[in-house]
Amino acid sequence: MDTSDYKQRLLDMKQALTNRINAIDKDIRHEGMTADWSEQASERENDEVLESLGNTSEQALLMINYALKRIEDGSYFHCDECGIEIPNARLELLPFTAHCVNCAEEIEA
Ligand SMILES: [Zn+2]
Repeated sequence: MDTSDYKQRLLDMKQALTNRINAIDKDIRHEGMTADWSEQASERENDEVLESLGNTSEQALLMINYALKRIEDGSYFHCDECGIEIPNARLELLPFTAHCVNCAEEIEA
């Protein structure tokens, strides 16, 4: 399987996130990123995906960086926890995920 499409999407998301973090940092430094988050997010590309994380931009950035590292070391298509292959459909939806659905549910539960 080819990782280049996923890598490009992750890099695009990373760029969008970095821009957003910089903007948030400038605009609402004193408030953090809670109330205004959904409004700002709706203006940007890849936002449905990023919002589905339910995390802050910094956390999302960490996940994206980790996914990029997993692409580099060849482990991208395999679950970090149990090692099974993560379905393409899941990676297309959540290109930054490091876990299969079962493990993700257990970790989040
Ligand atoms: Zn798993």
